[in-house]
Amino acid sequence: MKYKSTRGSKEFKSAAQAIIQGIAQDKGLFVPESMPALSIPLDELKGKTYKEIAFEVIYSYFTDYLEEEVRHCVDGAYDEKFEASDIVPLVKAGDAYFLELYHGKTAAFKDMALSILPYLMTTAMNKEKEDKKIVILTATSGDTGKAALEGFADVPNTEIIVFYPNEGVSQVQERQMITQEGKNTHVFAIRGNFDDAQTGVKKIFNDSEFADELAKQGCKLSSANSINIGRLIPQVAYYVYSYGKLMDNGTIQSGDRINIVVPTGNFGNILAAYYAKQMGIPVGKLICASNENKVLTDFINTGTYDVKREFYLTNSPSMDILISSNLERLLYHLSGNNGAEISALMDSLDINKEYKVSDKIRDGLKEFWAGFANMEETDSAIGKMYAENGYLMDTHTAVAYKVYEDYKASTGDETVTIIASTASAYKFADSVAASIGLSTEEDGFENVRALYKETGVKIPKGLKGLETKEIRHKGVLDKEDMKAAVKNSLKACTK
Ligand SMILES: *Cc1c(COP(=O)(O)O)cnc(C)c1O
Repeated sequence: MKYKSTRGSKEFKSAAQAIIQGIAQDKGLFVPESMPALSIPLDELKGKTYKEIAFEVIYSYFTDYLEEEVRHCVDGAYDEKFEASDIVPLVKAGDAYFLELYHGKTAAFKDMALSILPYLMTTAMNKEKEDKKIVILTATSGDTGKAALEGFADVPNTEIIVFYPNEGVSQVQERQMITQEGKNTHVFAIRGNFDDAQTGVKKIFNDSEFADELAKQGCKLSSANSINIGRLIPQVAYYVYSYGKLMDNGTIQSGDRINIVVPTGNFGNILAAYYAKQMGIPVGKLICASNENKVLTDFINTGTYDVKREFYLTNSPSMDILISSNLERLLYHLSGNNGAEISALMDSLDINKEYKVSDKIRDGLKEFWAGFANMEETDSAIGKMYAENGYLMDTHTAVAYKVYEDYKASTGDETVTIIASTASAYKFADSVAASIGLSTEEDGFENVRALYKETGVKIPKGLKGLETKEIRHKGVLDKEDMKAAVKNSLKACTK
């Protein structure tokens, strides 16, 4: 299986090469040249463990990796680091099944991919006899940053640099990042929002002079954002796994359709669900849930992607995004792999801040349904779910749940539905505590304690002791200074 760019250049790479490189030379994203079918029949998904499914899925995409290499990566990633013995519990609450993706080290779904990416990356470096140090450059809306830092901390021959929006993440998220240990970790707040951070990082990736300069120093940039195909593919596994779990507990029979709801920001997670569908998981609707930054809701409903709009800071900060990178991959697939068409759309986005897709792409978008929730609706979804079912949702998951309720009301579709539950409620303790009727304090850590006292839901290990941990990263930068920050961080970048 080869990987090619969404923007139509003739660049063909192996999975290992695409993972090391991160982004294609023509600024496009790497996509598989074809979608592999599930390597085992649907009814045999029954009873399989998470690791077994993850192996099957990853091995069918990353065919240049040897079987034992993929096993090594999967075994290293999905172990006791996860606080749930089955890695990804599927929990019924109300009228939906919550796929709890947040039991890894940093208490958000980003751990699902970022606990395996360092293994995939170092394996790729060995396979490709990469002689440079790999520098992981990451923009984060709050959760990717910590998960990437945790994954790459002290991994030999790597450095990791993270940029997050100052005042654009929750207190717990910020504290998780700025207390990060590890000799190769670098964290900066930037004065701007996530889109500024992501645009800045992409600019650095596309600066070929800078790449040459770094190469002389023995360094090479790569990405831990979901633009890296090594992030995306491991996420396909949990949707495949969830189908097996629904068969295990008798909710569905092999072949029955399910719907999937995903709280969406950069479009990586829902794209992984789309890939699972392409592989043969019977999925009816893919339901895309946004917060007030509802550029995707409008796009899916109108075919026009328009970022000329106000940017809101919400209580689901990991979805405060207007430029959803991975949508480019979906558009490419729906266009019938038309790189020239996608390249033109992305140029239009750069220049005109909008684009309108062809009828063919619009037709493909009918597999999706889109809606959004504002902050008040998000809060009341959390309160109602807790009051009625004793189940605690974080703000992002609550956005998805509210949109699911809207979907049902609007369509009457009662198909068995999985909701991607993307973070522990404790990461957004201020909002969640208020939503279930607790009086809240200025200090977020007080709210963590209050939430625990009220609900008894276990506090994730990774969030304990954060309050008193030493702050190691204090840099706050203007977005124009990101490149200089990378340079400074890499002074000693020799292998
Ligand atoms: C990153 C994130 C999302 C959005 O996921 P995308 O793959 O960027 O669409 C949703 N919820 C949480 C908690 C996240 O960390």
